[in-house]
Amino acid sequence: MKKIAIFDSGVETPEEIIMAAGFTPYRLFGDPTIDPEKANEHIPPTHCIWTRNLLEQALNGLPEDIVGIIGTHGCDRTNREFDIWLECLDYEFMFFLNSPRKINELALNFFINDIKEMILQLEETFNIKITNENISQAIKLMNEIRSMLKKISDLRFEKKLYGYEFHSIVKRAQQEDKKSMLEFLNSKFNELNQRSKIVENDYKNILLTGSEIDDTEFIKYIEDLGFHVIVDDLGVGTKYFWNTIDEEEDPITSIAKYHLSKPINSTKYPSYKRFEVIKNLATKYNVDGIINVAQKFCEPVLYDHPYMKKKCKELGIPYLFVEVSYNREAYKQLSTRFSAFAEMI
Ligand code: SF4
Repeated sequence: MKKIAIFDSGVETPEEIIMAAGFTPYRLFGDPTIDPEKANEHIPPTHCIWTRNLLEQALNGLPEDIVGIIGTHGCDRTNREFDIWLECLDYEFMFFLNSPRKINELALNFFINDIKEMILQLEETFNIKITNENISQAIKLMNEIRSMLKKISDLRFEKKLYGYEFHSIVKRAQQEDKKSMLEFLNSKFNELNQRSKIVENDYKNILLTGSEIDDTEFIKYIEDLGFHVIVDDLGVGTKYFWNTIDEEEDPITSIAKYHLSKPINSTKYPSYKRFEVIKNLATKYNVDGIINVAQKFCEPVLYDHPYMKKKCKELGIPYLFVEVSYNREAYKQLSTRFSAFAEMI
């Protein structure tokens, strides 16, 4: 099956529409082992390192079975840089989906209309028909995937699963064929559930939040320092599966409502909604601390940090903020700060 790539700093691209069109959604992830040399010719090097990394990969050539790209409005980087992608890349289908920043009735209608526009353009480009029935089937399949991911996520709470292991499972779910993925998740859950507890008692239980953290090695690096990512508020994490889509309502409306009602990114308005989710997760999983990681030059998370710091202080939950370069050598420079935080909590 051909793939449609997703360039999305949150997880707000309706994969169900791509599936109903007969393609596999393939979320693009960064590669921290490369430098964005070519991308730097198009985007100033003081802008988000993660999006420059993705553009670098796209300029070097994405997998051959990708026939189109959907860029979804997350922050100003993904928003503005999609114009640059349009200039530099040559794909049969390239669409910018305008996921709203605000959440209200007007925004919902706006989003529904933009999803409909995306459907029209897919139909015209590939000469296909996307039916409501196909969208509903895709919703059902995605809901099953979300429910399985939630069950597997809770194995982190039971200390049967490391956070980095879970992270790699969610990444696979965002790139591979969904039917095979559901089979994989079912058997993976049965296998992992047989495990005994593997996370040491003295590991510090943390909630991980921040920019899109898509390098599993980074999660492993933190956990090797004595933390356990018991829960998170990430796109490669809870934001992808925490809620499910209503299967009874009109499918396009249900998809739009789902994306506007799930946990929001720091790119969205208002911040207190984002903090409410973090507070609820931190309380439910009784975390020892919250770690907020900003990718280098990630303005939304940098702007969010003072508010998060203040709110965590009010709650009495230890909070650590770090800015990290998208480069594995750079992770090591943070070990002193992480270790000091582990000792403090
Ligand atoms: S890392 Fe930050 S600046 Fe970069 S795309 Fe994500 S939200 Fe935007």
